[in-house]
Amino acid sequence: MVANSRMNEQELLAAFDEAIENDHIFAYFQPQVNHSTGRMVGAEALMRWKDPECGMQYPSDFIPVLESNGLIYKADLHLFDMVCRFINKCIDEGLTVVPISVNLSRYDIYDRDYVEEIEKIRQKYDVPVKYLRIEITESSAIGGIKLVKNALDRLHGYGYLVEMDDFGSGYSSLNILKDLDIDIIKLDMIFMSGKLGGRGGTILNSIIQMAKWLQTPVIAEGVETMEMANFLKSMGCNYIQGYLYSKPLEEAGFLQKIKDMDYEPVQSAMQLITDMDNGKFWDPDSMEAIIFSNFVGPAVVMTYDIYDHSAEIHRVNEQYVREIGRGQDEYDILNSDPWECFDEENLKIYEETIKKAIASDDEEMCDTWRSYCTKLCGEEKICIRSHMRVVGKGGDKYLIYSRVRNVTTEKKALMELNNSEHLLKYGFEHANVYAWEVNLSTFEMHPCFRCMRDLGLPPVVKNYPEPVIESGLFPADYADMYRDWMKQMRDGVDNLEAVIPLTAGRIPFIVRYTLEYDENGKPLKAFGSATLVVDNEEKSE
Ligand code: C2E
Ligand code: MG
Ligand code: MG
Repeated sequence: MVANSRMNEQELLAAFDEAIENDHIFAYFQPQVNHSTGRMVGAEALMRWKDPECGMQYPSDFIPVLESNGLIYKADLHLFDMVCRFINKCIDEGLTVVPISVNLSRYDIYDRDYVEEIEKIRQKYDVPVKYLRIEITESSAIGGIKLVKNALDRLHGYGYLVEMDDFGSGYSSLNILKDLDIDIIKLDMIFMSGKLGGRGGTILNSIIQMAKWLQTPVIAEGVETMEMANFLKSMGCNYIQGYLYSKPLEEAGFLQKIKDMDYEPVQSAMQLITDMDNGKFWDPDSMEAIIFSNFVGPAVVMTYDIYDHSAEIHRVNEQYVREIGRGQDEYDILNSDPWECFDEENLKIYEETIKKAIASDDEEMCDTWRSYCTKLCGEEKICIRSHMRVVGKGGDKYLIYSRVRNVTTEKKALMELNNSEHLLKYGFEHANVYAWEVNLSTFEMHPCFRCMRDLGLPPVVKNYPEPVIESGLFPADYADMYRDWMKQMRDGVDNLEAVIPLTAGRIPFIVRYTLEYDENGKPLKAFGSATLVVDNEEKSE
């Protein structure tokens, strides 16, 4: 057995060629697992160097040496070659083949034509491209995004999936994502240290939510505890690579793992239903974002968890802030609990509508009253009309897009109208008045509720007054006089009044008409009423 001792730079450089020739440089494999199902979704090949005399060398020691001496390129191609051989072996032995991710140093992109070289190797071994993924690091972009983009395009051209390694470790992560068409995000280990939640948790959550929008699967690296894995899962990140499931394994150990575990392919956390290009949605200059910000009216994007009934707001546009903000700004809204403003009854209406939208896969609408209490406006109740539609789904979570409108004024006016209609109804009843309205150009008559209830009239009587005369409700001997009234009114007479015996019982009523004109003096509508003639003597008795 060889005792491990650290080799210095000179020793590493001197041993390099032989290490490549004799496979002293080789791959360990670390499984990537879906924490929800326990199935393997892939593995990462990690470079190892085992010197016959000095034993295992740390990647953190020898990789920088290889990089600064222009040797990483050769080492990476060698590792890629070994990975292809390994996959071939799995295929030959009839084992499940899991996709293997291979690391690409930024120097591979700067100095040489790495993409063409790996493609030659892949073809030599005839390995289907779906079994290989390439990891590039965020830091590759330091040397210029164009170079990386070019390599990425060529990798995609050959059909390789590309992973962004160590995502979140650099400060320009979001920009990189905007510019590069990445297939899988690997969350940097830095997020897994420290306590759960807090500021790190918020950033982590934002990255995961954003990745969902981009339809990009996320693999969290360096997950060591069950607690961390569960925390990630709660945010919708199920893919995990870390000591919790397995340390990097030598080939034999990894082959055993492949035999022991089931496999499933990586999938985007949130399957988006719409045709909208969600990648562009996060780019403030994109047409999608401009449309969202300027043309769709007030709108909000949120997720609803059907399992625990919670909701989270991800995005609101400026109009939303103006329409419903109540003095809150975008930041306040994004960080508030969307349920907070509802009372029990309105929350039920709102949730039921979301569920309806989920079931119908169509737009659903509801009006809900909400209470907002802000420093600026104090306690205020407003009514919001929401048109909701499901645009994505991931596990128990649904992504909801909702157009909203503040309908408080309309609602209040309607309530007042209902109130006055109520008053009017009782007034009519107490005064024993029947009322109706005749449109003088269409001859449509609209009776009041009492006419409909007591006289059996429909809501609209066409060709007035003929059907009423025909029915006997209006006496035949007064018919011509009444037709003449209609004519007079069309000619502009503004008041008419007579006692007419109505109904089969020929009960005397005072029938009156008052007219409404347009701005040119043309008669529009005639308002009729009938009040029972009360005998004064009877009354005084
Ligand atoms: P990386 O690509 O981000 O690889 C992940 C590193 O995290 C690996 O370290 C892995 O062993 C380690 N790791 C995995 N799970 C856990 C965990 O739960 N806890 C902790 N503490 N660590 C975990 P490793 O193998 O030492 O590799 C270090 C870095 O060296 C890699 O980071 C990668 O940047 C580079 N590297 C590895 N293999 C290659 C290669 O073939 N080519 C190139 N160019 N770079 C490589
Ligand atoms: Mg890596
Ligand atoms: Mg990494």
